[in-house]
Amino acid sequence: MSLPRIYLSPPHLCGAEAEFVNEAFATNWVAPLGPNVDAFEREVCEFTGAKAACALSSGTAAIHLALRLLGVGAGDTAVCSSLTFAATANPILYQGASPVFVDSEAASWNLDPALVRDALAAGKRAGRLPKAVVAADLLGQCADYASLRTVCAEFGVALLQDSAESLGATCAGVAAGRQGDVGVFSFNGNKIITTSGGGMLVSDDAALVERARFLATQARDPAPHYQHSTYGYNYRMSNVLAGIGRGQLQVLTQRVETRRRNEAFYRAALGNISGVTFMPEAPWGRSNRWLSHIQIDPALAGASREDVRLALEAQNIESRPLWKPLHLQPAFAEFRAEARVTGVAERLFERGLSLPSGSALTETELERVATVVRNALPAAQA
Ligand SMILES: *Cc1c(COP(=O)(O)O)cnc(C)c1O
Repeated sequence: MSLPRIYLSPPHLCGAEAEFVNEAFATNWVAPLGPNVDAFEREVCEFTGAKAACALSSGTAAIHLALRLLGVGAGDTAVCSSLTFAATANPILYQGASPVFVDSEAASWNLDPALVRDALAAGKRAGRLPKAVVAADLLGQCADYASLRTVCAEFGVALLQDSAESLGATCAGVAAGRQGDVGVFSFNGNKIITTSGGGMLVSDDAALVERARFLATQARDPAPHYQHSTYGYNYRMSNVLAGIGRGQLQVLTQRVETRRRNEAFYRAALGNISGVTFMPEAPWGRSNRWLSHIQIDPALAGASREDVRLALEAQNIESRPLWKPLHLQPAFAEFRAEARVTGVAERLFERGLSLPSGSALTETELERVATVVRNALPAAQA
């Protein structure tokens, strides 16, 4: 009989969620929107320092709204991280625009500002300046926003920050999600906190957030009858789910510390194995360490990341390769405008494995994972 399964990043409730959800039931606020949604938005603003927020049905919906509000439309291009989950880029296609995929830099594994600059300069020369830069914060670590903001400002291009993985992280002491013109969070079930499914758009531009709210609720103009001056979406978060989010937000700071502790545990347990390295923490920020991540150089370690993944799976432990770079994904082949790549993302993908990172993991479980990894690597036996 095998040991209980260890998941990559399962939900971790704290108990307070049920009170808010029960209150929604007790007051019959099971309709979409309601007091939990308003409070959740307010509380995310308090946590991050953002001026305004709009709770939505998913992080993907938030990215879609942000792109439309930043003026990315049919025939346009938008610069986008290549090393990220497909949901960062999919909404670019929803808008009929084409992604320009840009590679990562070594310090944070996020969008390389020098390559972004090249992409914007080339677009400008060609009379096709990208309408936005979409920067994803990989595995909970902020991109180099000081540089990205400078580059975007130089070209007058909007910066959209996909902080789906980095809620609770900081960049130069400021909460993740506030570095771009618009920031996006996800409360999907595998993220650092969850509403079972949901997202949020934040910005210091309160008018833009109001416009997002309007578009997300079917773009109903203020009139007694149904009047629409533009087309909208059904993208709002339900009041029941916002209750889960309010409970989860109370423990976000603890969740960050626990995830960082997981990562520190793996570092201590595996860091001295030849060919095993960890995701660096860039000097400008503090990662939430959403996923603990190792890179395995097969030439030194004596086994590949796939060997290790299969060894973990055989012991009922879930792990995941890093996101396959989007410039290699068939889904985008016919839609993408361009790819500016140096090979960084591809190499990280080939060697990268994310280890179980849930905030409810016990030390015994962490040790169980580390033991399987060690046993799968010949270099660890030497
Ligand atoms: C999870 C995730 C999303 C999508 O969020 P959903 O709430 O699942 O729609 C977008 N971008 C990144 C980088 C993600 O990790």
